[in-house]
Amino acid sequence: AATGGSTTVRQVKLEKECELRVEASADSPLRLRLLTGTAEIFGTEIPPGIWLNFPPRLKFAVFTWYGATIEMDGSTETDYTADETPMISYINVHAVLDGRRNRAKASPSDSDTSQGPRVIVVGPTDSGKSTLSRMLLSWAAKQGWKPTFVDLDIGQGSITIPGCVAATPIELPIDPVEGIPLEMPMVYFFGHVTPSANIDHYKVLVKELAQTLEMQFSGNAESRASGMVINTMGWIEGVGYELLLHAIDTFNATVILVLGQEKLCSMLKDVLKNRPNVDVVKLQKSGGVVSRNAKVRQKARGYRIRGVWYSYFSAYPCNAKRTFFLSLLLPQEYFYGPSNDLSPHSNVVNFSDLFIYRIGGGPQAPRSALPIGAEPAADPTRLVPVSISRDLLHLVLAVSYAKEQDQIISSNVAGFIYVTDIDLNRKKITYLAPCAGELPSKNLIVGTLTWIEN
Ligand code: ADP
Repeated sequence: AATGGSTTVRQVKLEKECELRVEASADSPLRLRLLTGTAEIFGTEIPPGIWLNFPPRLKFAVFTWYGATIEMDGSTETDYTADETPMISYINVHAVLDGRRNRAKASPSDSDTSQGPRVIVVGPTDSGKSTLSRMLLSWAAKQGWKPTFVDLDIGQGSITIPGCVAATPIELPIDPVEGIPLEMPMVYFFGHVTPSANIDHYKVLVKELAQTLEMQFSGNAESRASGMVINTMGWIEGVGYELLLHAIDTFNATVILVLGQEKLCSMLKDVLKNRPNVDVVKLQKSGGVVSRNAKVRQKARGYRIRGVWYSYFSAYPCNAKRTFFLSLLLPQEYFYGPSNDLSPHSNVVNFSDLFIYRIGGGPQAPRSALPIGAEPAADPTRLVPVSISRDLLHLVLAVSYAKEQDQIISSNVAGFIYVTDIDLNRKKITYLAPCAGELPSKNLIVGTLTWIEN
């Protein structure tokens, strides 16, 4: 049962197939080490004897297959041991996927059979989708595969800041504290935290990402056999459901894992029943998944932006740091890095040095309001130049890789800047960027993603 939280150094003995569920306290650090046995955090084994430092508010579980003793030092909001977990069913899924990867590897020349599993994880918000994705990726990486992690969750991305769809290869089990190292993520900027802001644009980006990965896979048998794990949004009703189907089609998903929702599972089984090569599998949601209300989620978004936007600049000629997987680091830590080793740069440039665009021409006229046969005038994927004004203050802008204007929509982005001042008299714009110096491109994309530093 929940202890409610404690502060002393203590040992916890875990029986086989049990887990210790922890929520680190909001204002003080927590460390933990493995004394005996073996244990893992979301699919990644923890090294014996070494203290791991967890940032405040982090929610995680230490699971053991064969039994373990854990020592904890520091305070927690809650910590309790659970003997009922869905881990066996999750590892069974992994075993099936592993078999398919081996089969794919054995026939590298055949374009169909050389494709490893393409797994998509779906379910409502807070059903444990990101966590399951993470486990499947870490277990696969532990066995030497290099699965591709695709994150379509623009509300709460695990790879980069919110408002993006992104992908990155996972070559090592994901570090429980450091998260996913980002050498070369593939990131497309949508610029809003909900797809309803511009459904067509969202679909275009999902398609671009899928096509780019398809191209990479065609020249890389190892990635191809390893397959992908796709994490999705928690929006599963109405248009959200349509977007799930769109993602399943666009990525040619072969395994659909449905977490915690009977209805969604039967709906998907029904629409996909004529596709013999697609498996729809219902999985139990873990009792350890912590629900976050909308406010907490919004806060987490802010923290992620702090942590990631400036550390992620793959094309940028500076010491781009790894990003942090954790969504709830303290702002201060996040901004300056966990060991105070990051410092963003403030840059001032002329208005004329930057070209800023947004995608889509504002709210669309509904077709029903138009004369029969007429097309809505505002193309949702139209590139619209934005003139610089105070409206840009506190917005997060993406730096496109596109050199030409007409490539912007279909290009991925190099990183992000954050607008901190607009001087209309001198026509100067001040922004924070990961480092000093010129941006990789003058073409910037703006959406509605804001962030107020506090
Ligand atoms: P979703 O992606 O479906 O929104 P997440 O996988 O992000 O859900 O899980 C929600 C929260 O619950 C996260 O903070 C995660 O770390 C936490 N969590 C997931 N599984 C467990 C568990 N077994 N024990 C403790 N916390 C967990």
